[in-house]
Order: sequence, then C-alpha cells, then structure tokens
Amino acid sequence: MERVIFKGDQGYETARKNWDPHTDKYPKVFVFAQKTQDVANAIKWANENKVPIRARSGRHSLEVNLSQVTGGIVIDVSEMKKIKLNKKSGTVVVGTGRQWGELHTCLLGKDIWLHSAIALRLESEASP
Ligand SMILES: Cc1cc2nc3c(=O)[nH]c(=O)nc-3n(C[C@H](O)[C@H](O)[C@H](O)COP(=O)(O)OP(=O)(O)OC[C@H]3O[C@@H](n4cnc5c(N)ncnc54)[C@H](O)[C@@H]3O)c2cc1C
Repeated sequence: MERVIFKGDQGYETARKNWDPHTDKYPKVFVFAQKTQDVANAIKWANENKVPIRARSGRHSLEVNLSQVTGGIVIDVSEMKKIKLNKKSGTVVVGTGRQWGELHTCLLGKDIWLHSAIALRLESEASP
C-alpha cells in the first residue's frame, strides 16, 4: 500500500526535504509508491485532476527543485526495493529505491558481478 502525504499532513516537511534542503516548491501531495501499480494509480489520479507530476528517487539532485513542483504530485519511488535475479539470463531487475551498496551486498556470492566504485572500495578496504 502506498504512503500518501498531503500538504498539511504530519510528515509533509520531511517529505519535502531533498539533499539540498533549500527547495521553495510546495507540492500538493507526495505518493511513496511501493509497487508499479502505485505509480500507475498516481499518474492516473494526476491526469484526472490535471495536476503536474514529478518523479523522485534518491532526492540527491544538485538542482534543488527538479523533483518538486508547487501544487503538483511527487511520485517518490525510493521505497520500491524489490530485486529480481534471473540466473538463467544473468540479469537483475532492481527497484528504483535500492542503493548501490545494498545491491552489491544482495548479489554477493550469486555469480553476478557489478563494476562500480563501491566494488573498488571494498577491494581496497580488504587489502592490508
Ligand atoms: C554530493 C553529490 C555528489 C554527486 N556526485 C555525482 C557523480 O559523481 N556522478 C553523477 O553522475 N552525479 C552525481 N550527483 C548528481 C546525482 O547523482 C544526480 O542528480 C541524480 O539524478 C540523483 O538521482 P536521484 O535518484 O537522487 O534523483 P532525484 O534527486 O530524486 O531526482 C533528480 C531528477 O531525476 C528525476 N527522477 C528521479 N527518479 C526518477 C525516476 N525513477 N524516473 C524518472 N525520473 C526520475 C527527477 O524528477 C528529477 O528531475 C551528485 C549529487 C550530489 C548531491
């Protein structure tokens, strides 16, 4: 079940905080999707109510207002954390809310290798 926070609700200011906290946009509502259907429902609602949409995930943009719009809906996908490994095809479908380190940990020992800064960091930490 998605989490929905309207302007005026408890948690609204926390929902507005991005990595750069100086946003001056005030969305009408935040929807924290848990699954794909939640995203589809939110888009449908926004279209029916003629409300502008912004997607948001890690809140890490260097441009403070890219992921928020006054009077709009923010569809936050950071709580979609499912990881689906297909060993046969050697592919992984990763939820938009997963962080690189979590993914790396999850795939350890599964014969899937990620090329990333974190892999290099782990190697250097392991060396004397
Ligand atoms: C300290 C710092 C260091 C950084 N270093 C690097 C770096 O080394 N390399 C680099 O490339 N970038 C770097 N960035 C930039 C950052 O990685 C990018 O801004 C990235 O877009 C952030 O992703 P996010 O999921 O946090 O996006 P958000 O901040 O949540 O959103 C950013 C934009 O992407 C859109 N968006 C977010 N999620 C989705 C989605 N699922 N579907 C469609 N649109 C979406 C939003 O609407 C918005 O326009 C850095 C940022 C910071 C603050």
